[in-house]
Amino acid sequence: MVNMKRSFARVVCASVIAMIFTAVSIPASAGQKLLDASFESGTDGFTARQNETVARSNAQAYDGSYSIKVSNRGSAWNGAKVALDTKWKAGDTYAFSCAVYQETGADVDMQLSLQYNDGTEDKYVQVAAGSVPSDKWTVLANPAYQIPTVASSCYLYVETAESLCDFYVDAVTSEIPTQYAKGDVNHDEAVDKKDLREMLAFLQGQDAAIQIDTSDMNGDGKINVIDFTILKRHVLFPERYTTTTVTTTTTTTAATQAPTEWPELHPGDKWYNTADISWIPAGKKTVALSFDDGPNINGDTYGTRIQNALNKQGFHATFFYWGERIPGHENEIIAAEKAGHEVANHTWNHPDNMDKYDAAGVLSQYNKVKDKLNDILGVKRDYLLRLPYLKNSTTISSTLPVPFPNSGIDSGDWSGSSADAMVQKIQRAAQDGSLNGQVVLMHETYNSTATAVETLCPWLAQNGYVVCTVSEMFKYNGKDMYAGRVYNNCW
Ligand SMILES: [Zn+2]
Repeated sequence: MVNMKRSFARVVCASVIAMIFTAVSIPASAGQKLLDASFESGTDGFTARQNETVARSNAQAYDGSYSIKVSNRGSAWNGAKVALDTKWKAGDTYAFSCAVYQETGADVDMQLSLQYNDGTEDKYVQVAAGSVPSDKWTVLANPAYQIPTVASSCYLYVETAESLCDFYVDAVTSEIPTQYAKGDVNHDEAVDKKDLREMLAFLQGQDAAIQIDTSDMNGDGKINVIDFTILKRHVLFPERYTTTTVTTTTTTTAATQAPTEWPELHPGDKWYNTADISWIPAGKKTVALSFDDGPNINGDTYGTRIQNALNKQGFHATFFYWGERIPGHENEIIAAEKAGHEVANHTWNHPDNMDKYDAAGVLSQYNKVKDKLNDILGVKRDYLLRLPYLKNSTTISSTLPVPFPNSGIDSGDWSGSSADAMVQKIQRAAQDGSLNGQVVLMHETYNSTATAVETLCPWLAQNGYVVCTVSEMFKYNGKDMYAGRVYNNCW
């Protein structure tokens, strides 16, 4: 009798697992391409919207050898259009994507748009948009765009926001989105240990691209150790969860995300703090470890070790990047952003006398790194600045539109402190209560610092501390920062 009960329980359990992980409904037509314009053998139905020139070209190509070139444009809305026939149904949702290229020498705001008739007049709506850097193919994509229910006579087209520049278009696609279960990180239509392995590789910086929609388990827009923890529970205890599906088709990487709305900030303005603190439990003590002088050069991996140690505990930190060191080391920054760390600015070439610079010189040190980071991360925003050698001046503070987190506690790594000495300093501050709310100055360029962080992260977790970014620490403690001011702690 007892045995029968047990085996019955096992059968029930197995059927629940099967329901959750194999019964995800995938429409028969899902993933079917309705439009796949590669321009390899013609213009694939694309034409001008007005009097501009739309011609096949082999001067540039995203895929294959050909794209189409749009030139002689008289208005920003002049571009290349293609009719969406009866395969596309009003009210239904489709994935749309195109690759665009321009060579003006500056960024150009471009968009993929839909023209339709609502029964009375023609309407024009944005499907996907982005800031397109010069001389770099950029993908504008929307994995799930719903065509308005009243729409007829639909055209998909590419245009600019303002510029009248020439541009190229390639790889225009539209398909019926596939539905994948949350946690199906690799989109193989199962949620299993393979997905855990894939997410772990991503968090460890070994895989720059990941499906954000099925990996972002808690829906906070980031993929970090919290998502990994949730996914681990899903895989190990599937009977406790029901499936949610998400609609998607594209792999999201940092470089192709749509730009974030960002206000124009001025010295004295309140810092536009977008930090998400939902992951920090109530009643915690917080500390902002911050790391200067990366990305790592000369093949050093201290920065990656530091990120891994933080990621293992689900912690975040702020990384102030030295502009000149970025080229060739972009992946470290993308990995930091994706794991939820705060990417920040440490000037272009780390001048030792920026306090003597005029406003133009100061701005250039800040803007060059800002532009670089925006380019790498595919966003538009400002970044906290760590002043080189912590040197401020009235020119600096009345010129730059961002706050300057300095040093509440100096790890001393730059002056040769050992890993043990750093660990003891932080542990003492934690024990006497003075660590809470502090900005800790560290550098990601020392083996000793990486070793100290590897010891400190689990210790701080066990002792009631959460390591978070500077912006998160201020927000969690209900404090604002203002542009042009120095902060050593959030009190
Ligand atoms: Zn520095």
